[in-house]
Amino acid sequence: METAEEFTTGWKPVKKIPIKVPIETLLVCREISKEIKTEFAILLKCKDFNCSSDYVIPEQQVTYSSVDFDNVKLLEYRKQGYNAVIHYHPMDLKKFSGTDDEYINSHFDISILFCGGEFTDAIVNLDINNMRVQLEAEIELVTPNINIDKQELETKIKPKTYNTITKLGGGLIDKETVIGKETVDDTFPYDVYRLDRWRW
Ligand SMILES: [Zn+2]
Repeated sequence: METAEEFTTGWKPVKKIPIKVPIETLLVCREISKEIKTEFAILLKCKDFNCSSDYVIPEQQVTYSSVDFDNVKLLEYRKQGYNAVIHYHPMDLKKFSGTDDEYINSHFDISILFCGGEFTDAIVNLDINNMRVQLEAEIELVTPNINIDKQELETKIKPKTYNTITKLGGGLIDKETVIGKETVDDTFPYDVYRLDRWRW
């Protein structure tokens, strides 16, 4: 039977735009914040809300509550494609300040806040009919893909086997490997505990 075609957009509504940031970038911010106790900022390259781990530290003058860039140098970085900024709040303010909204957040495509060792706030600026529309964003940390050779695990890492186990009351008896078996088979003539209870 033929099914009628129905209207569907396939859209997935989001309240915040997800921005992917490599975990290395978070580690970089943590390292810098061990050295720099004031605010600081670094610049990233982001495309389609995916940021690369490539970063630069732009020339800047900082206090505990502000970052002022050298705008001549900043222009150079913007031309090189650094379109996103991460700045650090040392004073545990986990949201952008009013000043942030006015300055740092309106001069980059993406602005991310780093505070308390984590990314705690983010915005993106979208160009819609020549208007810069600022939307809330959230950070998704991207971790590297770790590939392990499962065959190598199977061939090289094996459960330890015992040829003898102790029978109740002392003495040794021959027995094939019992590791991994919940019970020993019924034909076995002695009372035997599971091997993990025989560790000494
Ligand atoms: Zn700020």
